[in-house]
Amino acid sequence: MNKKRNTGWKPDYKLQFSPIFSDPLNFIKIIKYLFFYPGLIVPWNLFFLILSAIIFYLLTPEIENFYYFNYKLYLLIFFRNLLLIVCIWGLLHFLLYNLKIQNEEYKYNSEFPKSKNKVFLFNNQTYDNIFFTIFSGVPIWTAYEYFSYYCFANDYFQSISLVSNPIYTIFLIVLFIPVYHEIHFYLIHRLIHIKSIYKYVHYVHHKNINPGPWSGLAMHPIEHILYFSGVLVFLLLPSHPLLVVFFITRASIGPALTHSGFDKILINDNNFLEAGHYQHYLHHKYFNCNFGDIIIPIDKWFGTFNDGSAEIKNK
Ligand SMILES: [Zn+2]
Ligand SMILES: [Zn+2]
Repeated sequence: MNKKRNTGWKPDYKLQFSPIFSDPLNFIKIIKYLFFYPGLIVPWNLFFLILSAIIFYLLTPEIENFYYFNYKLYLLIFFRNLLLIVCIWGLLHFLLYNLKIQNEEYKYNSEFPKSKNKVFLFNNQTYDNIFFTIFSGVPIWTAYEYFSYYCFANDYFQSISLVSNPIYTIFLIVLFIPVYHEIHFYLIHRLIHIKSIYKYVHYVHHKNINPGPWSGLAMHPIEHILYFSGVLVFLLLPSHPLLVVFFITRASIGPALTHSGFDKILINDNNFLEAGHYQHYLHHKYFNCNFGDIIIPIDKWFGTFNDGSAEIKNK
């Protein structure tokens, strides 16, 4: 077997955290990171914001309808979410893993998952991942989303006007939601790596050593309950339903990207879109590093950061 082919794509630079928390602060770098491509907002947070606006303004009934629990409404939101995930995640999987539009180019692990692997349910990684996503991920995501609308309808979540609070709104979108999501994810992720919890709960996700888009929400139900619980912060923080949908959309649709297995995605003949989450790929490869993401250096503070140096040496 060709040894070079097996190495997969690796960056030839060390992973770095965003400039927001760098020391000393470099304001030019921060502005570039916040507002230019590729950065925090463009392309992916902008994509999630637009998607959230479509979901909330076009695909969600008026908030008043959520005053009581109504199972028909729950099912409506469930099937809408199912359709979203099948269309978006399914498309990404179809392009990268079925059509193989870019073969192994920018793929972290040059191997594509084997069609038969007895580690997984149904002896197949994709079917296993789809099963946990559809029968646990989407119902629990929908429950949290329904609960959020219920809280707005009953004033448990305090609603603000986006237009009257532009600076606060921008603060929530640009900084608070991405940073808070990362801290919450880091904490619950460390929790489920405790041996006694890992072997019953988080092992489901870590069967995916060579992840693909459908691996993102391939989790045990307890992990889903913890993972989506971040939305409960809005019990304390005044917000707007659109921003809560933004939080939930990042958490539910985002994992397709963080687990795509590719650093860049082909968009036309010669152009690739930045879509990399190499730090999380290293987490799947080594298990005991990079529990968080890349905006805040929380892994560095807790001594769990792997910057990919070893991979560069082995290149
Ligand atoms: Zn993962
Ligand atoms: Zn893990």
